[in-house]
Amino acid sequence: MRTHHWKKFADMIPHPARHVSGQARRELFRANLPLTSILLFFLAPSGFAQSPAEKLAAHTNEFRPEVIEVTEGVHVAVGFALANSILIEGEDERGPGVIIIDTTESQAAAKAIKAEFDKITTAPVRAIIYTHFHADHIGGAKVFAGDDNPDVYSHPTTTARATELDGPVNPIYLRRAVRQFGIGLGPDLFMNCGIGPRLHVSLGQASGFIPANITVEDELEVTVAGVKLKIVHAPGETADQLYVYLPERKLLAPGDNYYKAFPNLYAIRGVPYRDVRHWADSLDLMLGEEVDFLVPSHSRPIVGTEAIRDTLTAYRDAIRSVHSMTLEGMNRGLTPDELAHEIALAPELASQPYLEEFYGTVSWSVRSIFSGYMGWFDGNATNLFPLAPPDRARRMAELAGGAEKLLAQATDALAAGDAQWAAELCDNLIALDPADGGALNLKANALTALAEEQVSANARNYYLVSAVELRVAARRALP
Ligand SMILES: [Zn+2]
Repeated sequence: MRTHHWKKFADMIPHPARHVSGQARRELFRANLPLTSILLFFLAPSGFAQSPAEKLAAHTNEFRPEVIEVTEGVHVAVGFALANSILIEGEDERGPGVIIIDTTESQAAAKAIKAEFDKITTAPVRAIIYTHFHADHIGGAKVFAGDDNPDVYSHPTTTARATELDGPVNPIYLRRAVRQFGIGLGPDLFMNCGIGPRLHVSLGQASGFIPANITVEDELEVTVAGVKLKIVHAPGETADQLYVYLPERKLLAPGDNYYKAFPNLYAIRGVPYRDVRHWADSLDLMLGEEVDFLVPSHSRPIVGTEAIRDTLTAYRDAIRSVHSMTLEGMNRGLTPDELAHEIALAPELASQPYLEEFYGTVSWSVRSIFSGYMGWFDGNATNLFPLAPPDRARRMAELAGGAEKLLAQATDALAAGDAQWAAELCDNLIALDPADGGALNLKANALTALAEEQVSANARNYYLVSAVELRVAARRALP
């Protein structure tokens, strides 16, 4: 397989992309689809296939609020917050007790979940486990803990990351996070966050985070409320990721190393490189457990040994294939722009519902892997010292015959459905004059059109919040 792969790539010079597409086409023909499905595809009226926006809208159903009984004594609250909370019931000589895995992003969301969990049991909370430090997993712990004084488990680095409120790039990180999660978008525009219904931000509300008193560096076996737990360090979406395995129930809580969307190998709000090899290795680690119930911290649980094995295997293979295709292309001298346009998942992976790009995308992953290994420079000498944006913009305007003609071209591009080109032309106009109301409004319209072409909630939200910002800037710019 490996040799075969390399041979394929050895043929790639000078048109690797065409070669990959040709290979993909041949695989599609070999896929041996039933004739009826091929006929349906070609004969279906144009309205038959869902648009990207319709697909993303339909994905909201994944997050309908519900407390799901996964198996006896294990419940998961889905759809109350961006992330899930998992309730595990147990009993020992002290009486009944429960374990909570992940606590959502806010005390308000945690209260709503706790009210539902209280209908199942009011037994004291003996342990809270954070799968990782992200805000959507840690903010409601105080609500679940109440006066029960539970042990709190995490990786040793989690507390420091969770309480890092004055990071040096926090101002820009927060602005970009608002865009990624679509915070402030009205119900007419907002659909979901790809891995959850929405992110609750309650400014001024003190975080309900409780620092861990027990940390798991590598692996810990412990019995809490009579329930045997194996807690394992499994770096992936974050370096501090833990999974929780219940051997007696063959149940695995993978944290954010699996959810029903293409993995966010890079987050557009801005994150340091996530070493995707670790993520794939951690999926291998989880595949080493006997699992009948998979209860992720986002999206709904999966039941059934085979379905779980197939899902985790494909998830791992998707990550590994994007990594290896990127490296192979990089080593042929291709740039991130070229690679991001050419690399695609193999059809048998791309067609899996849990690899739909509702959250992460292949092209962002490719760019992230490139910069993770090589840094910012794409390798093209032209880009060692490129023109300053206003300088390039002035020359572009000259080429077009003046700024008015450039604006006319951008307007025509958008009218013709070429929203990306319209946005790129607008960037030149805005570089020439940051208070050009016409260009600001036109770019906002272009981004709104681009949002409709996206299945990625992150992309959609980022486009739409940016459009709002541009319209505000345009209003300020008008005399
Ligand atoms: Zn999360």
